[in-house]
Amino acid sequence: KELPADPVLENTRRQVKEACYSFVTPRKTSKPQLLHVSDEMLSEIGLDKKEAASEAFLNVFTGNEVLENTKPYAMCYAGHQFGNWAGQLGDGRAINLAEVVHHDKRWVLQLKGAGETPYSRSADGLAVLRSSVREYLCSEAMYHLGVPTTRALSLALTGDQVLRDVMYDGHPAYEKGAVVCRVAPSFLRFGNYEIFAAREDEKNLKILTDYTIRHFYPHLGAPSKETYIAFFKEVTERTLQMIIHWQRVGFVHGVMNTDNMSVLGLTIDYGPYGWLEGFEYGWTPNTTDAGIKRYRYGNQPNMALWNLFQLANALYPLVGEAPPFEQGLHQFKTDFEKESLQMMRSKLGLQLKEASDILLTSQLEDNLQLTETDMTIFFRLLADFKKDKAQEGLKRVHDAFYSPEEVEGDIADKWNDWFVKYAERLQKESLPDEERKTGMNAVNPKYVLRNYMAQLAIEAADKGDYTLIDELYTLLKQPYAEQPESEKWFAKRPEWARNKIGCSM
Ligand code: AMP
Ligand code: MG
Ligand code: MG
Repeated sequence: KELPADPVLENTRRQVKEACYSFVTPRKTSKPQLLHVSDEMLSEIGLDKKEAASEAFLNVFTGNEVLENTKPYAMCYAGHQFGNWAGQLGDGRAINLAEVVHHDKRWVLQLKGAGETPYSRSADGLAVLRSSVREYLCSEAMYHLGVPTTRALSLALTGDQVLRDVMYDGHPAYEKGAVVCRVAPSFLRFGNYEIFAAREDEKNLKILTDYTIRHFYPHLGAPSKETYIAFFKEVTERTLQMIIHWQRVGFVHGVMNTDNMSVLGLTIDYGPYGWLEGFEYGWTPNTTDAGIKRYRYGNQPNMALWNLFQLANALYPLVGEAPPFEQGLHQFKTDFEKESLQMMRSKLGLQLKEASDILLTSQLEDNLQLTETDMTIFFRLLADFKKDKAQEGLKRVHDAFYSPEEVEGDIADKWNDWFVKYAERLQKESLPDEERKTGMNAVNPKYVLRNYMAQLAIEAADKGDYTLIDELYTLLKQPYAEQPESEKWFAKRPEWARNKIGCSM
C-alpha cells in the first residue's frame, strides 16, 4: 500500500510505468500435490505441521486459492543482463502472495511458477519440477551453510505439463510443472531502482528507496542525502559478505545480472547455479555463458562490484554527486581483499594474521588448480593435517584428487612445498591440532548440493519417488556435521556426472 501500484488489472504483457508492481491472480492448477515442506521455514512464519498438511495450505501454496484480504502482485523491475541494459523485466513467473509478520520478522511469501504476469514477455510464467527441486533444495541448503539467502517454504507439483524444449525432430518435450513458495523479508533487486532511474522517474525512485530504508534499513534514519549514501554503502557491505560466503563454500550463482541482485544482500534466483567440485577460478555452471564466462567463480567479486556500480548509477539522482558512491565502490575493493584473505585464513584454521598468509593462500589456490582437486573434500581432509607432520600432508588429501596419478613429479613437489610452509605457519599458532580441526570444520562444509545429487533427486521425483528430496534436504540441514550414515554423499562427483549441467528454466 505504501508503494505505487499499476492501475491496470489484467495480465497482458506490457510496459508498466510509474508503478512498483501489478496485481495479478495466480493460475489454477489441475492436480496440485505437495512434495515437501521446510519445517524450519514453517515455524518461522508461525505455522505447524498440521496446518501444512491441510487442504488450504496446498491450495494457497500452489496458487489455487487466494488468502482472504490479500492481493497477490508481481513486481516491476529492469536490469542489466550479461552486461547489457535489458529494460523492463519484472516478475515474469513470480507472484507475491502476501506478507506475514511473525516474532517481529517480516516475510514475503512468493510463488515461483504460478503463471503469467504482465512481465512474462515471451515466456509462460511456469516452472518445471527440475528447476523447482534445484531452487528448493539449494536455497534451504545455503541457509544452513550460513550464507545469506532467500528461503523456501514448499515444493509442489501442479499436475500440469509444461512445454520446455522442442526436440531436434520438432517434437515438443513436456515436463512436469511445479511451484516453489519462496520466502524472504523482501525480493527487491537492484533492478527495481534501475528501472525508475532509467525512466527518469525520480519521484518513484525516491518513494521506493525511502520505503526500502524505512522497512529494511530503519537504523539509517530519516531520508536525506546522507541516508541514501549510507544505504548504498550498506548494500555494498552486505553484497560483499554474501560473495565472501559464496567463495568460501564454492557456490557459483551463474546469472549475476542486476535483476538477480538482492538489495538486502541475499542470494536470490537459483537458476543454473553450481558448486565447485574441482577448484577452478574459471568455472561457470551456466552453459549460455560458456564463451566469455562472465559469471565464473573467480569473477563473482568483480561482477558484484559491476552490479553495485549500476545500483550507484540508479541511486545517483537522489544524491546528485558521484564521489560518495565512488568511495563506496572503492571501499568494496579494498574490503574484499581483506575479507577474502581473512576467509581463507579461517578455512586453513589460522587465527593469527601474518603478512605471509597472502602468499600461503595464493600458492594453495594455484596448487588446487594444478590437477582437478575437489574443493569441499580437500578442505575437510586438510582439517586432519598434523602440524608436526608436513610430510604426511599429501597423503591426507589424496582422496580430493580426481586423477591422483597426476600428482607426481613437479605437481607433488609443489604440494609438498606448500605443506611444509603450512606446517611452519601452524607452528606460530597456539591451538592444538584437534581444536584447529574443530574450527576448520565449522567453516568448511562436509556436504554441499553437488549437481549430480540434485540430478538424482530430480530423476527419482520425475518417476514419483520423492524420498531423495527429503534425504538431501535433511542431510543439508547440517552441512558441517559428521553424518556417518550419509558418508556416501561425501564423495567426489561420479564420472557419469562430469559436464552434466543443471538447467535454469
Ligand atoms: P532470470 O534470468 O531467470 O532471472 O530471468 C530473467 C527474466 O525472465 C525475469 O524477468 C524473469 O521473471 C523472466 N522469466 C524467466 N523465466 C520465465 C518464465 N518461464 N516465464 C516468464 N518469465 C520468465
Ligand atoms: Mg531473475
Ligand atoms: Mg531465474
